[in-house]
Amino acid sequence: MLKQLVFSFTLLVTLGVFTYSSLRYINFFRLTRAGFPVNNFGRRFGIMFKVAIGQTRIFRFPFVGILHALVFWGFCVILIGSMEMVADGLFGTEKALSFLGPVYNLIMGSGDIFALIIAVAILIFLVRRVFLHIKRFEGIEMKHVSHIDANIALSLILFLMISLLGMNTFYVLQQKLISPYGGQLPAGITHCPAEAVVGFYPVSSYFAGLAGHALTPLTAQVLYQAFWWCHILLIFLFANILPYSKHFHVFMSVPNVFLSRLEPLGKLTNMDSITREVKLMLYPDASSGASPADAPTERFGVKDAEDVVWKTYFDSLACTECGRCTSVCPANITGKKLSPRKVMMDLRARMKEKGPMMVKNGKDFSDTKSLVRDYISEEELWACTTCNACARECPININHPSLIVDMRRYLVMEEASAPGQLKTMFNYIENNGAPWQFSQGDRLLWAKDLMINKNPEGN
Ligand code: SF4
Ligand code: SF4
Repeated sequence: MLKQLVFSFTLLVTLGVFTYSSLRYINFFRLTRAGFPVNNFGRRFGIMFKVAIGQTRIFRFPFVGILHALVFWGFCVILIGSMEMVADGLFGTEKALSFLGPVYNLIMGSGDIFALIIAVAILIFLVRRVFLHIKRFEGIEMKHVSHIDANIALSLILFLMISLLGMNTFYVLQQKLISPYGGQLPAGITHCPAEAVVGFYPVSSYFAGLAGHALTPLTAQVLYQAFWWCHILLIFLFANILPYSKHFHVFMSVPNVFLSRLEPLGKLTNMDSITREVKLMLYPDASSGASPADAPTERFGVKDAEDVVWKTYFDSLACTECGRCTSVCPANITGKKLSPRKVMMDLRARMKEKGPMMVKNGKDFSDTKSLVRDYISEEELWACTTCNACARECPININHPSLIVDMRRYLVMEEASAPGQLKTMFNYIENNGAPWQFSQGDRLLWAKDLMINKNPEGN
């Protein structure tokens, strides 16, 4: 009963902190723009199963790809065991899902094996990050704190797996050491398990075999309980650290893939405000589609974090900082300042900076800074070739060019700020209807002396 009370209190605190973090993000989302309708659910589920659950894009880097996929799939299986622990903690049961019979053995057995695989994979990830200085993990946006954040999250996952294996190992030992006593329990033991071992634990049974003879039944039981608490408290801690870490993608990446843009890569969305203006110019008498005179002035493009559509902010929260996008960006590879990963990280950081003040002081709050220029320079924005290699490479279907183009739209349409060559071209398009310096009427002047229009008879 005492265990149930303590567990319920701990769970309540965990859920309270998690709710606080979630509400904070919901408030930030409220600051962003609407304009990304979610439809076509069948296709979305297909993409989610292929890209997120199947981890297909990850395999472009085969070795780390397979390791990452095993970690992801392992997490999914182990999550079932974690839910069972919550049920056991709340209702005072032991192995609440054991009624599933052979399926239970399958879940516990694969979870036990995955725990070992994940622990080894995380060790490899840590060695790569700390000692091998992989180029993909470097860059101006990868500050010291980003590396510390990643290493803390990886270490937590490692401890989670160690505690899980410890819990299973001492559970197996407890059952094996106590159950032979039947009704005559050894000193200090208050509970006699009904069966030797409930579930299947291939890895932990092996470890239990190594440690078995050195332990008394009481020690095994105490250690089982200690690891049980250690594992569940680490889960609660991990869940509440994630929203403030790059590993937030553990929660965000699958929904982000579900919310993928369904249009072909490179397709630019029309701006509604511009479409309305053009329609009004073409059909001045038509009232439909024109914005009412008293409608608030809309910002063209994106200047700051609150100007993005909610999906773009979702992208930034889901970003794993893996650097796959930057590693294929031709601008970055050729030494330009642009890094698509930085663009996503900057949006996230800017909302973290300005969002709380906007929530507190209202949407009109200004701290005289902005995403464009204070975080992302014009030089970075104009270095993008819109090739879409970054969006194609991203394992969670983030679309960087759409945000980059929207920030350029702001620069051009609100500040008339663009590189000199582009400004010249814009003028030509405006005056001549073509990117060239000649008017449309002079288009064929180049053929004037070639007698192209003369008929073969020379008339
Ligand atoms: S679309 Fe732009 S940011 Fe993305 S890879 Fe190409 S040049 Fe780099
Ligand atoms: S945007 Fe995508 S590819 Fe780039 S760092 Fe983030 S998750 Fe990785």
